[in-house]
Amino acid sequence: MGQTTRGLAILGSTGSIGTSTLDVVDRLGGRFRVIALAAGSNTALLASQIGKYRPALVSVRAKKDADRIRGLGKGWRMRVVHGPEGAVEVARAEGADTVLSAITGIAGLEPTLEAVRAGRRVALANKESMVVGGGLLRREAARSGARIIPVDSEHSGVFQCLGRERRHVRRVILTASGGPFFRTPLKDMDRKTLEETLRHPRWVMGRKVTVDSATLMNKGLELIEARWLFDLEPARLGVLIHPQSAVHALVEMADGSILAQLGATDMRLPIQYALSYPEKWEAAIPGMDFTKALQLDFAPPDRSKFPCLSLAYRALEKGGTAPAALNAANEEAVAAFLDDR
Ligand code: NDP
Repeated sequence: MGQTTRGLAILGSTGSIGTSTLDVVDRLGGRFRVIALAAGSNTALLASQIGKYRPALVSVRAKKDADRIRGLGKGWRMRVVHGPEGAVEVARAEGADTVLSAITGIAGLEPTLEAVRAGRRVALANKESMVVGGGLLRREAARSGARIIPVDSEHSGVFQCLGRERRHVRRVILTASGGPFFRTPLKDMDRKTLEETLRHPRWVMGRKVTVDSATLMNKGLELIEARWLFDLEPARLGVLIHPQSAVHALVEMADGSILAQLGATDMRLPIQYALSYPEKWEAAIPGMDFTKALQLDFAPPDRSKFPCLSLAYRALEKGGTAPAALNAANEEAVAAFLDDR
């Protein structure tokens, strides 16, 4: 085929997005070579990834894990680093022109920023870095020439709809499945358990983003992410509940016509597009099934039941460090909830 092989670094390789990315890499057969991997503490999974992809650089959170993994690189040159500085090294790894950013939470900000500063193509899943440092990331990308391509399915949908029509955009609407409690009456919300919260009706994701989806804070964070990714003022951003999760984004143009992006509920599609952009490559992932009747419902979100959405709107409108404070409070609250506190 005469295709060139591009170098890829993955931040958060052992997570839901990280493993889906490696699955995409496998399916793309030879288009990408995995140069560097950064993970937290799942050393068992990381060890199998190391054996399979033989990366030149690996980072883990703790030094003791780094010491344990170091011996795995016999037979090729592999450097093992650790801590926040280790993740930054992975983000700047030599030979990796593309960096997939999928560490959860604020820990993803620094390596993402460094990948942007290094002028890489950044396939961005870590929405928290845009929420907290969107303005900074945009400025640094303008300086270095880095391209930030969204991985979040909704933002990938917006990105695909926008094309060259940006000047004529009136409004961008992000869709939300509504999470596991969409139909739960308000009076029953405070009795919901962790187990019920983690049972998302549409997506299988990491625990933090799954809790965020149940509270709609995820959609709130995505609004702020969209503000920076697409340079849109808050008044031009909206949210609609769409339980089928078939439509990922709606872009309303100046004349009132609406462009929609639809696709299977499979994160491997937006991941692949972030890697292939501006091209569209064949994907060995089943498309949407139109042989069966398909219903598409849309409803405005119930802000009294999901106050996190209103908090996010307020932070978005306030700007400055308000989104960072919102994100920090949310990370602490979600961590406590996941810890059964
Ligand atoms: P997971 O919890 O499944 O994975 C997180 C990854 O980050 C793991 O590899 C974990 O390592 C690693 N990690 C966590 N903390 C650190 C740290 N301090 N240093 C280094 N590595 C760390 O999360 P997801 O894959 O679900 O989500 C990742 C990001 O993508 C989030 O920002 C999320 O909002 C976003 N996103 C996710 C979607 C999804 O479908 N999952 C959809 C859209 C966006 P380990 O497990 O080894 O400890």
